Amino acid sequence: MIAPGDKESNEKKLKIAIIGSGISGTANAYFLKHLFGDKVEIVIFEKSNSIGGRLATYEFNERMYEIGGSVLHPSNKYMEEFLKILDLKKKDQEEKRKSIVGLFDSNGLLFNTTGNLFGLLDKIRFLRHFGFFQLLKFKKWIRMFIKNFSKIYRLQEHGFVFNTLEEFLTKLSPELYIISQKSLENALKDLEFNKRIIYELASIACLTNYCQSIEIDGFVGLVSLAGTIDDLWAVETGNKSVPTKLVEKAGAELRLKTKVKYISKDSQESNKNSIVYETENGDEIQDNTFDYVIIAFPIFKNVIGDDFKLNFDIQEDFNNLEMQVTNTYVVYGELILFPNLPSDKRISLHCIDPKLACRSIAVQLPCDYSKKKDKNLYLNDGKKLYKIFSQEKLDENAFERIFKSDYEIIQFIPWLAYPKYEKNPNSKQIPKVILDSDRSRILYSNSLEWSSSCMEMCAISARNVANIIAAKENVLTKKFFSPKKDDIFTSNLHLMSKISSFVLISGFLFSSFYKI
Ligand SMILES: Cc1cc2nc3c(=O)[nH]c(=O)nc-3n(C[C@H](O)[C@H](O)[C@H](O)COP(=O)(O)OP(=O)(O)OC[C@H]3O[C@@H](n4cnc5c(N)ncnc54)[C@H](O)[C@@H]3O)c2cc1C
Repeated sequence: MIAPGDKESNEKKLKIAIIGSGISGTANAYFLKHLFGDKVEIVIFEKSNSIGGRLATYEFNERMYEIGGSVLHPSNKYMEEFLKILDLKKKDQEEKRKSIVGLFDSNGLLFNTTGNLFGLLDKIRFLRHFGFFQLLKFKKWIRMFIKNFSKIYRLQEHGFVFNTLEEFLTKLSPELYIISQKSLENALKDLEFNKRIIYELASIACLTNYCQSIEIDGFVGLVSLAGTIDDLWAVETGNKSVPTKLVEKAGAELRLKTKVKYISKDSQESNKNSIVYETENGDEIQDNTFDYVIIAFPIFKNVIGDDFKLNFDIQEDFNNLEMQVTNTYVVYGELILFPNLPSDKRISLHCIDPKLACRSIAVQLPCDYSKKKDKNLYLNDGKKLYKIFSQEKLDENAFERIFKSDYEIIQFIPWLAYPKYEKNPNSKQIPKVILDSDRSRILYSNSLEWSSSCMEMCAISARNVANIIAAKENVLTKKFFSPKKDDIFTSNLHLMSKISSFVLISGFLFSSFYKI
């Protein structure tokens, strides 16, 4: 699968260009540094004036809040490990657990929790609404998915690489690949889940996470559903701190306001790649000294053109790929949409009707929220800070149905947030990781994003790219995860059992000697 490397590759310092400074690009830089140490020189090109891409924060009343990728699952091992390596902390999620969660459609509020009695009452209502056995089966199914998915960490520690979604998923479990080939709706129907699980629970997960319906494919659907059964987490200083600190740790050179316009493999020097980039003052510069080029942003229909070109033969048809617009508003105002909801609790409302533009409305907590420091935050009536995800732009009328008229729009970002999965159900359309199959030197880290967009998937893809380059350069893979205490304990047990069997065997041998 990987084109062979050249013989003297181990002796020289590799020069690698990474395009994009989001979590994909910066994780790529980190893993490469981890595997190659001083034998690599990394340059990151970033067209905007800041690091992080879709991981972004904004300031309100001297506190920072998330406005891009905001939550992580407890099974996201790379992101967890980055936190340890980068000396970052998790945000206190206590308040979120006590939130009022509601489901609504065009007729109004269908179901809401109360956030009371340590959640016990809510759990009972939840079980009654969705059905105890159905929920149990649902949880078991997702646990199985998480278990299978988690195999990737061990595989990648041992150098596993993949070029296509099929190679990636079938290695984890052939079942996962089959699920990725059908819609989530059909996958759930095949498993005989009830209508409430399919059209309410699964529907809100998809609408909230990807602003799309349950027609998205089963794999990305499962990624969305994983968040429904576990407590999620975020970084105390903002998720953006991860890419920021990864660049420092990788010792990479970061060139901000530098847009790469052209990548080609046509250079006089064999195996080198050429890129053309535009600097802040409009100068176009060509650099053909890179051994590898890593593309760490999504390529789709609107990207390819005069602004960005790949000048070599590739089979991928990026013109079929589209991104989903998610209009993200931050509004400071008083909610009037559902007047019966208590105003002294954190509220998180989710739309289950794919035909309604507004997908979710939720009270925001600062990145560094702490139960102690923010004891009285939002306990008062009146204005609060809300984040709204909407598929369409909201006009004044829409806002006035949601908020009292003195609301203020604090932030608005029309994110090209994630791929349109409803239109990409078939993995044949998902581009490969290795774009130049004859040389394996131009690698597309965001290929996997077309199967599911989330921070952890970016990190998995980045590790894959680093493993591909290591395999090609004959560099041995190096463990990334620090051994856990229980691993040390089990390995100690293992060692002790080895010692005791050694003692027993030696004792036996010694006694045998004495016998003679
Ligand atoms: C509103 C929203 C909510 C989300 N919620 C979650 C969530 O809760 N949990 C989760 O895990 N994920 C979430 N995601 C998805 C997650 O944020 C993304 O999957 C992830 O951040 C993508 O990172 P990336 O580095 O691949 O791409 P990006 O973050 O998009 O980074 C790509 C970078 O490349 C730069 N670039 C592009 N073209 C060029 C060029 N030609 N030259 C130089 N630089 C270039 C861009 O400026 C950008 O900085 C969310 C995303 C959005 C938008």
